Amino acid sequence: MMSTPPARVRAHDLVFEEMLTEAQIRARVEAMGRQIAADYGGKRPVVLSVLNGSFIFTADLMRACPIECEVSFVKVASYAGQSSTGKVRQLLGLDESLRGRHVIIAEDIVDSGFTMQWLLREVRRMEPASLALAVLLLKPEALQVEVSIDYLGFEIPNAFVIGYGLDYDGLGRNLPAIYRKCDG
Ligand code: 5GP
Repeated sequence: MMSTPPARVRAHDLVFEEMLTEAQIRARVEAMGRQIAADYGGKRPVVLSVLNGSFIFTADLMRACPIECEVSFVKVASYAGQSSTGKVRQLLGLDESLRGRHVIIAEDIVDSGFTMQWLLREVRRMEPASLALAVLLLKPEALQVEVSIDYLGFEIPNAFVIGYGLDYDGLGRNLPAIYRKCDG
């Protein structure tokens, strides 16, 4: 019997094929939520969601985490610049309320790791009681700096992906599965 080819979608000029199904993502995110609940019961953690891409992951992760917890949002604005990593970053929305709290950063994807390395440093300056990192997707082959991830969804190949909150130039965030760019 021939297996069904992966579903394909188009966004702007590119074609993408399904890489992680809705069911696979749901099962993994629910397991991550249960693990966080087991680790943080009674601590009332703050889930710090990194906009825009993490909004769907954060919503599902929190609903899978049946303990008292709060949510807060930050946005990282990047500009092409002259720094060693090639980018100047600005953090919008971070405030003093994280001081003394148990903070769990929720991030959709770690690629080179530079963004997360920088964000962890910024959040540590707020002096949280503890800081952990929940990441849905990691591209191990693309990593250029060490990033310690406490809760990881999936390791994926070094391809450009969209769906489940991730976009290509604004499109694709509402796709319920995750799709990788087709070659060519
Ligand atoms: P890093 O600093 O780890 O190289 O990049 C992290 C950011 O790059 C992510 O938060 C995301 O915004 C973007 N990014 C990296 N890889 C992908 C990808 O495959 N698809 C999409 N849509 N964004 C990506």
